[in-house]
Amino acid sequence: MAGLESIETEIERIISFDPGGRGVRDLLVEGDLSAAATELLQAKSVWILTGFVVPSVGKGETDGPPGAMALASGLAQLGISARVVTDPINGKILARAGVAAMIASASLWDGPRPTHVVAMERPGRAADGKCYSMGGIELPSSTDEVSALFDQAVERGIVTIGVGDGGNEIGMGKVRERVVRSIPHGEKIASVVSADRLIVAGTSNWGAWGLLTAMSLRASMHLLPTEKEAWDSVEKFVFAGGVDGRTGKSEASVDGLKRDQYSRFSESYVC
Ligand code: CA
Repeated sequence: MAGLESIETEIERIISFDPGGRGVRDLLVEGDLSAAATELLQAKSVWILTGFVVPSVGKGETDGPPGAMALASGLAQLGISARVVTDPINGKILARAGVAAMIASASLWDGPRPTHVVAMERPGRAADGKCYSMGGIELPSSTDEVSALFDQAVERGIVTIGVGDGGNEIGMGKVRERVVRSIPHGEKIASVVSADRLIVAGTSNWGAWGLLTAMSLRASMHLLPTEKEAWDSVEKFVFAGGVDGRTGKSEASVDGLKRDQYSRFSESYVC
């Protein structure tokens, strides 16, 4: 597996390309992509927690849910049960986009339980117990139920994976000191919530693509969406009421990246 691991290290480097100049490469945990892909291939059931509400407009952003949808689809191709879990605001948008996400609540533990939990671009508590945007603005309280599910997964010993691109997301507690050092407003926004594995990307949806690429290589299957499928899911999310997380506008872009910039790596993975 040494050859695969060196390819996965290259994938980590590719997906952590930092278009916003945030300093995310400093947060990379080398080897976690390889470990996360290996662990997900052994999963029986996965909850993918996602959805980031943009505080200025109270709507869900385009980074997170499209990656979660791609990951859920890839897991389904492997015969692994995968459900997207989110807050009520993002749940409504996803429903309009044709995705039946589960709304986070403690009662979900009464149903089929996951073996693995992935937090895909989900706000994570900072040191003061609040969640913040990259700019240091406090986020709405609808984040709480999803955070609670993640905490309960940790308590239950479920394998956890965090995917993020800014330092304020669930999972970034694993590298909190580096977030404080490298990311603007780091001391305030850095999440203290850690995960077993941390995937760092320039934009979090790329983190999903990186995971799917590593899983594809290990399973000898093609699990990635096409460039068109990946972009269609962004457009669908916007049409359903989502916004770009950077601009807060109802426009088909991700963290301010238009299609050509967003899709720059989607055709370059080796599968
Ligand atoms: Ca993002």
